[in-house]
Amino acid sequence: MHHDTHTMEKDALWEKHRNLFETLCTTDDLTGYFSCISDVSKGFGRTDRSIRCMDGRTPGGKHFAGSGILLANRRGKEFVLETLAAVQPDGIYSHEECGAASLVAGLQGLEPEAGEELGISWAREVAEALQVPYLGHLPVEAPFHSEMATYYDGTGRIDPIRLSDHIVPGFDITRQYHRTACDAQEELMISIGIAFGKTGFNERFTRERPFLVIVIGHTKDPELSVATLLEEVRPVVDASPHRDRIRILSLTPEQSWLTD
Ligand SMILES: [Zn+2]
Repeated sequence: MHHDTHTMEKDALWEKHRNLFETLCTTDDLTGYFSCISDVSKGFGRTDRSIRCMDGRTPGGKHFAGSGILLANRRGKEFVLETLAAVQPDGIYSHEECGAASLVAGLQGLEPEAGEELGISWAREVAEALQVPYLGHLPVEAPFHSEMATYYDGTGRIDPIRLSDHIVPGFDITRQYHRTACDAQEELMISIGIAFGKTGFNERFTRERPFLVIVIGHTKDPELSVATLLEEVRPVVDASPHRDRIRILSLTPEQSWLTD
């Protein structure tokens, strides 16, 4: 019989967020749902500008898978440095158990465990190149993934953990700073793969309780509007073997939520 060593911890985290998750799963008007949150602007407020992973366990700041290591694998280092420089970051983090770093380690023919060192050396390298501090290797609380959603964020401002009484933990893709759609789409694909992988909630997602892809449109830029971002997200979901257990939701924040 398959034995998952983290079953009890996973169950506990699933239970903790289950009510909210089920509410979101059955919501047809996400903008309306957000409008009813009294302190909604808190979730779109100013955070630091440090680069972190899209991993739901590394909240705050701006997010790129493995602090850009995944993008580097695809585009090369120079491309990533230009992309990250545009964020005007105030520092770079790596983190423990980084799925993106271990994926890249695997692609380089290394053991997945080598991802730990690879993630650190990558973040140090980027920090040095951009002349900002390397801010350290963030510890993660749980040795597995409890993301129930991926936030595909055209505003570059959502910080789901600040709205944790209202929305579920999720991967955070800072779509605003990606120079091309396909780079963000790759991160979305990887996030779905992790959620449905052996370290994610996987089989707990069903047709009735699907993993959520939450698209957040920019209020003004048509290239980052909900309509545009939905066109980016749909083909990724449609191509996923888990598409029957994924639901796409979208919202456009009101300008007043972004005033901070
Ligand atoms: Zn990571």
